[in-house]
Amino acid sequence: MNIPFNKPHLTDKEMGYISNAHALGRLSGDGFYTKKCHSWLEKRMKTKKALLTHSCTGALEMMAILANVKKGDEVIMPSFTFVSTANAFVLRGAIPVFVDIRPDTLNLDEKLIEGAITRKTKAIVPVHYAGVACEMDTIKKIARRHNLLVLEDAAQGVFSKYKGKNLGTIGEMGAYSFHETKNVISGEGGAILVNDPKFVERAEIIREKGTNRSKFFRGQVDKYTWVDIGSSYLPGEVIGAFLMAQLEKAAEITKKRIRIWRKYHKAFAELEERGFLRRPIIPETCEHNAHMYYILVKNLKVRTELLEFLQKKNILSVFHYIPLHSSPAGKKYGRKHGSMKVTNDISDRLTRLPLFYDLTTQEIDHVIKSIHTFFEKKQK
Ligand SMILES: *Cc1c(COP(=O)(O)O)cnc(C)c1O
Repeated sequence: MNIPFNKPHLTDKEMGYISNAHALGRLSGDGFYTKKCHSWLEKRMKTKKALLTHSCTGALEMMAILANVKKGDEVIMPSFTFVSTANAFVLRGAIPVFVDIRPDTLNLDEKLIEGAITRKTKAIVPVHYAGVACEMDTIKKIARRHNLLVLEDAAQGVFSKYKGKNLGTIGEMGAYSFHETKNVISGEGGAILVNDPKFVERAEIIREKGTNRSKFFRGQVDKYTWVDIGSSYLPGEVIGAFLMAQLEKAAEITKKRIRIWRKYHKAFAELEERGFLRRPIIPETCEHNAHMYYILVKNLKVRTELLEFLQKKNILSVFHYIPLHSSPAGKKYGRKHGSMKVTNDISDRLTRLPLFYDLTTQEIDHVIKSIHTFFEKKQK
């Protein structure tokens, strides 16, 4: 048995849709399947406008342009996140201001946000870690009070909810990822959700190289031209076709992942009671998508031992995030506000376990048993 950390799942529809996209005679962006994905996402997520992008990174870059952040502006975000959250804004000359996370959800600590706001602050970027929602009502209230945008990095939060609302649809804009390590995939891929209608028209322009080509295709202008800054953020039809197959199976994929997540969760309850580890905490306001199962062990030493032990058992378990505030580029382009105590601590202790659609019962049992064996041995 050799258990990888992730294995991309294939439904039985991707190849047929791709071949059909070719037969339809158009492989560039915004063809039949891409449009189908757009309306599927708009209907399912209840948002004004969903547009596929080549990655969540691309969607975040679009949000930074749409938010009009300029050189020297500040954007509040966690340090415990993927590089793209920060990079998207740094590319516009803005400064990521890192704020510590909550010890329970590992999300941006909403109580620390207001202290980090200055005259230069333009936006708050909540990242829904492991598909578990940030405290969005509080974050939105703070944003309203200070006239800031809320831009959600919902890369891991596709099909998760906060108080019944889909993640990515709560702020002015949201970014999704369909990278192969996420729940629903297209290899590389993402989407921007434009929830505030005032950004829709410019979003289409920025995504199409700064041209009004989308309007042209709808017959609203008789020729298209360069009207704004922009880039090529749209994926080709092969990606749209692949993604459509996955979206159609999304409910089943989520259900299966939740089953695996719960199995892990139940199996580790006793180890948590005995003080060996801490399991994820899901607030009542949140319905999560089982994007990730992690455990928090005592310290870096135990984690290093555990990862090595699991590797010997042919299980690939991995840690997550060197905090951005301590990375070379983070130090150069960002600044931290206040202590990063929780971020530093969690980053040393977090261990992610294999969780993917095709994980078998025997494989799950092997992971669970191995972790139990590790801690039993430690106790002796
Ligand atoms: C995966 C991820 C991204 C980047 O997604 P891509 O689609 O690979 O660009 C950004 N932010 C977070 C929090 C992620 O987990």
